[in-house]
Amino acid sequence: MVPYVYDFSAGGRELADLLGGKGANLAEMTRLGLPVPPGFIVSTEACREFLRTGTEPEGLFQEVSRHLSAIEAGAGRRLGQPDDPLLVSVRSGARFSMPGMMETVLDIGLNDDSVTGLAKVSGSERFAWDSYRRLVQMFGSTVMGVDGELFDRLLTELKERRGAPDDVHLEAADLTDLVEAYKRLIHERTGDHFPQSPAEQLRRAVLAVFRSWNGERARLYRRREHIPDDLGTAVTVQRMVYGNLGTDSGSGVAFTRDPATGLPGLYGDYLPNAQGEDVVAGIRNTVPLAELEQLDPESYHRLRDHMDTLERHYRDLCDIEFTIERGTLWMLQTRVGKRTAEAAFVIAAQLADEKLITEREGLARVGGDGLARLMFPRFDAAATGAPLARGIAASPGAAVGAVVFDSAEAARRAAAGEKVVLVRQETTPDDLPGMVAAQAVLTSRGGKTSHAAVVARGMGKVCVCGAEELAVDTAARRFTTRTGTVVEEGTVISVDGSAGAVYAGAAPLVDSEVMRYLETGERSTGAVDAVASALRLADEVRRLEVRANADTPEDAARARRFGAQGIGLCRTEHMFLGERRALVEEMILAGDDVARDRALGALLPLQRQDFAGILAAMDGLPVTIRLLDPPLHEFLPDATELAVRVGAAEARGERPDPHDAAVLAAVRRMHEENPMLGLRGVRLGLVVPGLVAMQVRAIAEAVVERRRAGGTPEAEIMVPLVGDVRELRLVRDEVERVLAAVSEESGIDVRCPVGTMIELPRAALTAGRIAEVAEFFSFGTNDLTQTTWGFSRDDVEAAFFSAYLDKGVFATSPFETLDREGVGRLVGIAVAEGRAARPGLKIGVCGEHGGDPDSVHFFHGAGLDYVSCSPFRVPVARLEAGRAAL
Ligand code: ADP
Ligand code: MG
Ligand code: MG
Repeated sequence: MVPYVYDFSAGGRELADLLGGKGANLAEMTRLGLPVPPGFIVSTEACREFLRTGTEPEGLFQEVSRHLSAIEAGAGRRLGQPDDPLLVSVRSGARFSMPGMMETVLDIGLNDDSVTGLAKVSGSERFAWDSYRRLVQMFGSTVMGVDGELFDRLLTELKERRGAPDDVHLEAADLTDLVEAYKRLIHERTGDHFPQSPAEQLRRAVLAVFRSWNGERARLYRRREHIPDDLGTAVTVQRMVYGNLGTDSGSGVAFTRDPATGLPGLYGDYLPNAQGEDVVAGIRNTVPLAELEQLDPESYHRLRDHMDTLERHYRDLCDIEFTIERGTLWMLQTRVGKRTAEAAFVIAAQLADEKLITEREGLARVGGDGLARLMFPRFDAAATGAPLARGIAASPGAAVGAVVFDSAEAARRAAAGEKVVLVRQETTPDDLPGMVAAQAVLTSRGGKTSHAAVVARGMGKVCVCGAEELAVDTAARRFTTRTGTVVEEGTVISVDGSAGAVYAGAAPLVDSEVMRYLETGERSTGAVDAVASALRLADEVRRLEVRANADTPEDAARARRFGAQGIGLCRTEHMFLGERRALVEEMILAGDDVARDRALGALLPLQRQDFAGILAAMDGLPVTIRLLDPPLHEFLPDATELAVRVGAAEARGERPDPHDAAVLAAVRRMHEENPMLGLRGVRLGLVVPGLVAMQVRAIAEAVVERRRAGGTPEAEIMVPLVGDVRELRLVRDEVERVLAAVSEESGIDVRCPVGTMIELPRAALTAGRIAEVAEFFSFGTNDLTQTTWGFSRDDVEAAFFSAYLDKGVFATSPFETLDREGVGRLVGIAVAEGRAARPGLKIGVCGEHGGDPDSVHFFHGAGLDYVSCSPFRVPVARLEAGRAAL
């Protein structure tokens, strides 16, 4: 039988699925010979079994006590032994880090007897009772379900009565009283007593950690981070070491590099005379790690060595938790640390420079989402004026929003469409919904390793923390700055997470350094260099070409600067808007061929000019022009407005304007219940005489014009919404006729590839037939997603997608990330059958998904030739296409 429990010495990070990240890495550090207090791990399998059945897995606690005995033997004392107790922590830890989202209980093994024993052997009454009150508090809230606030309140009241500024100033006798008060609280609230049996404490704590997997905040965090719900958590049981033994002890957290900027050098926070959970909770102010060098040079240097060992071993930025017990350093946790987008690029480049990783590994460690974040605008330093406050730049970016002071208000306003900034003294896991809803998080306490900073960084949310000049008054719903400015709830502020500053009002924005680089090639910072080298390598290794969706010369030119290798989708509908509407109206209303030809004839030179401009901007690169797609009534005025006008005239006894009346009649005649499934795409071309011919002629004449001007235009003609090969054949015949005619008239050969979009399931399923006529395919994955799911994109997202996401029907909207299982299957069929019918068939994608990182990886795997996306996503697609090819 597979064991449920693993000793630290029996595992390593390759077992992270089974041991959770925390447990596996503790085992890994043990294997590396670092000073880790001994312990063992209850596997995620035990948790899954418990959550499945609701009862303790059979034999689990026999295994636990066998492993516990080994630790007891090594320590020479038993769990909770009255005269000299061994204590343990019971720690949660899933496969993926979920900082602070689940439960951990420290100091298991203390009771009314062993607390005296601990006081004696340690020589410190205060320490023993401090540990006991921590246990009763954590056990009471985590295991027995008493609201944690109630314990905090008793502690605060006691500090006030004693005039103690913080918990360190409470004495042993105070803490003895506090333990009694805590025990009474537990009894009042639960009718049950705090258990005195160490074995029972341990057993119940383990089960409580299992249960915390399904706690509300853990679930919310998983949804947000797309972590599957069925992994379960492991439980680590580990001998306690004591950071609260006096001033020669303490706890801290540290990073091997700065997680915000990626710059080298140890970075962290330290808190003397404290247990670990105090550091991130922001109960007392921490000191920068550098000060540990003065406080305890030996431990500091040892710590530096260990962190160096870890970084070389993991070959990446690591973060750690450590505790110093009377001058002895203990390592309590490590993992590959979360970092900002900027830091990800910088660290990957540095580690590659240091030859710790290859350039390709570096490319694997950065991503398109991060790059997109670095392309966002930032505040214009020259125009912001004096900040309201400064704090620590914990998670970069520029955010503007109305100040709110709690999670509920943040969620309420965000749901109503308002942008908000969550302002707290410090955040706790309970603030998670508010952090999710907010544009930015601002706190007055805590460092770069505080809860707010860590979680915000993980979510890519803007965060300024530790803005200590701010007095945050949550109850009165306002904060006050050092100079006395009062900012009430609802006031708009700007938060600069890159500079660590807060401004009144909405500060003006400018291009980011990365955006400037993409536009001009200018390399102004190390981060820009890192981005540039990642893009260069991606371009070298990728197989997918990247094109852009653009329908103006300006967009085409920008896309080209951003590295686009052509246009994958040039829509023609905007060319029918504005002042050209009148001509379109005329075409639609035309009573006979003569009138229609007149309108089309007037549109022709305008379209030709549009195409010539785009072909010039993309000279030498392919430009795929899609024939008109949307239903014609989209170009007509609104029916209600017209009806009102016509009705008003009639009511006055006048004859309505004949033009109004004619248009109204046309609008009514062309009304469709489901326009997205109606007369559009290729269907328009087949029923509106002359439309296709006019568009193709405009394209062909633009090609002639460009060729005569010495250019190299590469037009491709694409037919939308084809469901059957016969539709395409009819249109293609007409296209070829016009191309031949223009070639003949001009003496210039304007023949070009004619292909189709694959955006209906029927097209995908009959792709072999369609490929007999189509010279290329381009997946229109927006429509293909709509028609495969039967979702009307304009309606469903607001109506029920959030419910679907909550209920786990899908983890991300299929309009954002391609649904591999369904839509992806259609893509696979169409690629295979299309290429079987026409070897070498060129295939691309031009839906929104072309710029989505996950989808780009899918398209690479599906064997497409190119992805096409909006100009701003082109760098993202280049990067991800490179990563997909690694
Ligand atoms: P989290 O997932 O919230 O970080 P942890 O399991 O890491 O929870 O524990 C919370 C705090 O308690 C951390 O600061 C950790 O370092 C500290 N801690 C955990 N186990 C021990 C131990 N055996 N001795 C001393 N401190 C511990
Ligand atoms: Mg931890
Ligand atoms: Mg479409």
